[in-house]
Amino acid sequence: MKYVWGTGTDAGRVRDHNEDSLFPTTSGNSEGPVILMVADGMGGAVAGEVASKLAVEAASIDADDSDIEPIARVASANEAVIEATITDPTLAGMGTTMTLVRLNPDGTADFAHVGDSRAYILTEGGMRVLTTDHTLIHELVELGKITPKEAENHPHRHMLTRVLGIGPIAIDAFSVELLVGDRILLTSDGLTTMVADFIIEQILDAGEGVEPTSWALIEQANAAGGVDNTTVVVIDVLA
Ligand code: MG
Repeated sequence: MKYVWGTGTDAGRVRDHNEDSLFPTTSGNSEGPVILMVADGMGGAVAGEVASKLAVEAASIDADDSDIEPIARVASANEAVIEATITDPTLAGMGTTMTLVRLNPDGTADFAHVGDSRAYILTEGGMRVLTTDHTLIHELVELGKITPKEAENHPHRHMLTRVLGIGPIAIDAFSVELLVGDRILLTSDGLTTMVADFIIEQILDAGEGVEPTSWALIEQANAAGGVDNTTVVVIDVLA
């Protein structure tokens, strides 16, 4: 398999700084193994930026070493953020999401994930979300306490139940078999809270390359208000 990716990140229309981080920061291609990730930091002052940056740095150490499992990379990101908080108490309470994928030469993709950033896959059959949001709202919907419609505008829809940097954490890990023609999207919630899934699917399915598609997604989030930072990684699976 050959993988080609485009990436983009933007502070949006409201915030004056960007607390998202990603890896790699530039477009490229590889036959695998290769790792890619997005992280969405949170915390007072500059702490959110610090958290996502530290997490991505830790998770991307020895990026070419395919013996490091994605779940271990996210675990080391968690430890790095906790460590920084202990060293500098002014950063206390900072945290970050992380959605990471390792694309392998055999056409499999291994994901590890914590928080409300997401991974989507567009196949011949359409687009579906691969990750579970670790949010209070998602859990309430799962429990049948509120409807998906009520969740859309719920005041607590950004409240995370799992985040890196606070303490020991359960990390979701799963693998997907890819086919030539599939397209993967990793994204922070700046896109998914502003743009409906069916529009994200239309943009992914518009037949454009990975780079223009990345920027089309970011432009759509900004056109819808751009209230949060938006970061995307779009990956095509080629023969
Ligand atoms: Mg965000």
